[in-house]
Amino acid sequence: MTASEIRALFAVASRPEVVSLAGGSPFVSALPLDAVGEMMGELIAKNGASALQYCIGQGDLALREIICEIMALEGIDARCGASPDDVVVTTGAQQALDLVARVFLDPGDVVLAEGPSYVGALGVFQAAQADVVHVPMDDLGLIPSALSAALEDMAKAGRRVKFLYTVPTYHNPGGVTLPNERRDEIIEICARAGLLILEDNPYGLLGFDTEPLPALRSRVREGIIYLGTFSKTFASGVRVGWILAPHAVRDKLVMASEAQILCPSMLSQSAVTAYFTTMPWQEQLKKFQGVYAERRDAVLTALDDFMPAGTQWTRPAGGFYVWLTLPDGLDSKAMVPRAINNRVAYVPGTGFYADGTGRQNLRLSYCFPPPERIREGVRRLAATIEEEQAL
Ligand code: PMP
Repeated sequence: MTASEIRALFAVASRPEVVSLAGGSPFVSALPLDAVGEMMGELIAKNGASALQYCIGQGDLALREIICEIMALEGIDARCGASPDDVVVTTGAQQALDLVARVFLDPGDVVLAEGPSYVGALGVFQAAQADVVHVPMDDLGLIPSALSAALEDMAKAGRRVKFLYTVPTYHNPGGVTLPNERRDEIIEICARAGLLILEDNPYGLLGFDTEPLPALRSRVREGIIYLGTFSKTFASGVRVGWILAPHAVRDKLVMASEAQILCPSMLSQSAVTAYFTTMPWQEQLKKFQGVYAERRDAVLTALDDFMPAGTQWTRPAGGFYVWLTLPDGLDSKAMVPRAINNRVAYVPGTGFYADGTGRQNLRLSYCFPPPERIREGVRRLAATIEEEQAL
């Protein structure tokens, strides 16, 4: 295991004079905190005896039913075989990734993953001693022909590919979204190759300009393990996520989770259940979408206004991130000290590849700072890039 680049950056990025476009912390202050506090108080007063107790390893049934209602917003419902019985509640999507890795991966197995990919997933796959092989993306996400080519290469090399890890909607860190036609193509390619898909979808309900897109899992009954989380639709601090998995796999995941943590926090699960049954969560979701849309607009306008020629970036329609490509010859990792000196932080692209590539790229998160700070941060970043170019 190696230390995450993001963790190392956090110490400097959290200094007040630095505009941090590095970490991806949700803006939980947009929640009605007093009302959530009251909800928590009532929860203990009325249901403390169960909320403060252990529960079954699979997770509380009342919450698993709510999870199915939430997944139905992205088309995952009884028509494609989703049921509370096949849901495993986890400590965030992060534990979900770890459980899937524990159940499926042996040292030397190959995991196919978008290039770039979510840094926390790469860490999990590397800890399981799997080899991550990246499949390139373009502005429309994972490229189907590149996926086919990667599968052919792996077959020729006699390598065992366990699954494709993908974030089809509002990608972290790519900021791109797979259109419907490509969703069908990817599913088709994987079905033909008998390859399992691990669909990770933390941001699907945080689209700015459209209704939620149908998840990959909504299109097929089998061949996909689906991961969700309440980190972005409610609060990352409750640490509640889930896995929807085929029945036989679900059993193994529950056993793996029991070995790790006995059961997910019943207090957190009860809080999520209370939130989605007693609070106006749909209005709050719209509020989150509005806050992040305003920040996305701020980052894109500032990039248009300040970035020197030769810099490129993605234009996210949801989620938290912009993926930026520096002008030729610049190195995002080498540029970090100058950026910090100029009081702006970002994550270098290398953190999002298992193979050390990504030096010309960086990730900007617009989820946490207010719009005027985002603009100032982008101005400082543009100045940093210009200074590097002038060397
Ligand atoms: N997957 C992706 C793609 C993410 O961006 C994140 C959070 N940044 C996670 C999983 C983990 O989320 P959590 O553990 O908070 O549910």
